[in-house]
Amino acid sequence: MNHIEIPFWKKKSLIEMTRREWELLCDGCGRCCLEKLMDHKTGKVYYTDLACRHLDLETCRCKIYSNRTFLASDCEWLIPDKIQKYRWLPKSCAYRLLMEGKELAWWHPLISGNPETVHLEGISVRGKAVSSVGISEDEFENHIISDRIWGRTAGTD
Ligand code: SF4
Ligand code: SF4
Repeated sequence: MNHIEIPFWKKKSLIEMTRREWELLCDGCGRCCLEKLMDHKTGKVYYTDLACRHLDLETCRCKIYSNRTFLASDCEWLIPDKIQKYRWLPKSCAYRLLMEGKELAWWHPLISGNPETVHLEGISVRGKAVSSVGISEDEFENHIISDRIWGRTAGTD
């Protein structure tokens, strides 16, 4: 009999994953670190092109990740229990996809084996976001971006 290795994200639920597996699941798109606005009548969430001041706009990774509890009190930590409630996560987000019983896309670094594919496919914020430093909340509306700017395989939000 041939043995195949079943990847951890296919054999474990989000809650069963180790801390390392949980972190590996993040595709590094940086989209959850963009400022968002919600229409309170419809519940629709609008993404802006304004990135958290702690996001590295080139790597799309948090510059203070291990210290964000202390340095960014408004940063939303993703934990398994919250994924279902966080409807603002982009449809391409690996945590959301798995929670919805869907597959990871080909460009996810765990599938492609290449951390650049999330950028090459246009899923990440690289080249699409600016820092929110110095921008007042009154101006956020002027920074709303269309779902269409994301890669063609990202889905709309
Ligand atoms: S949206 Fe999801 S996959 Fe993308 S950076 Fe945030 S947590 Fe990671
Ligand atoms: S503190 Fe880091 S993880 Fe939190 S929103 Fe800002 S860049 Fe993202």
